[in-house]
Amino acid sequence: MLKCSLCVNDERTAKIDIIDGKLICRECQVYLKHPIDREAVRQGLDELMENVERAIVAYSGGKDSTVALYLAKEVYKVPELEAVMVDHGLMAREAIENARRVAGALEVPFTLLRYDYSDIFREALLKGQSPCRACSKRTMEKLRKYALKNGYRYIITGHELPFGHHPYRLMSGGVVQIRLLSMMTEEERLEILKKLPFELPELPGYTTNCLVLGPALERYWEVHGHSFEHRRIAALVRYGLMSRERAEKELEKPEVPEWQRKLVFERLGLNRGS
Ligand SMILES: [Zn+2]
Repeated sequence: MLKCSLCVNDERTAKIDIIDGKLICRECQVYLKHPIDREAVRQGLDELMENVERAIVAYSGGKDSTVALYLAKEVYKVPELEAVMVDHGLMAREAIENARRVAGALEVPFTLLRYDYSDIFREALLKGQSPCRACSKRTMEKLRKYALKNGYRYIITGHELPFGHHPYRLMSGGVVQIRLLSMMTEEERLEILKKLPFELPELPGYTTNCLVLGPALERYWEVHGHSFEHRRIAALVRYGLMSRERAEKELEKPEVPEWQRKLVFERLGLNRGS
């Protein structure tokens, strides 16, 4: 199977061409034509953050949003912050505990909003699709409404820079999403986590908070033979934010413990293998 020599895409996830004798995927070809200036992105974020007086941190209790909360409070010193966690109904208990503990240690008020996203998860598992896009879209919409209701203009998130976009996004109603981890390396994040009372939960998939991801990846593997996180992780390698070895490991078929699979399927009212 042909593999991109710059990221971890292969023929299953991207079109691969031979350019100057090297195998390079289409996504890397676009990146080589329009590379992202890491310093410019970070500087843009610094300038934007200078004007932020009040903000919500979209706090999932996972490692990336934990880093975002730390940066907002301790590095950018936003005067008024609120950590808002949206529980989609199948969050790891450890993530909620992490969220409360870290928000407490940083002295940021913590709000937990509980919802039931069973419809999204059930459909994804039945069809062998990724639930992530629909889930994150719904969560951002809940947070946008919460922001408007409570007079916040900014929502800080632990997202990295997705495919060639800006580190901020204007949402309807004038709310601005700030992707505070744009172009930040995996190592930089881990260094920050060491300073906080954050306990890394053992969960399958590239997650530190979601119980659905493991079983969803497993189902996707059964149907498609690879991970639905492949392109996102390939982008992290391409941008130099994650090592190839680490990425290859993240892309292996996950080992989901029986208790987790059982819990998720039961909670969604699904029969395993249906
Ligand atoms: Zn590539």
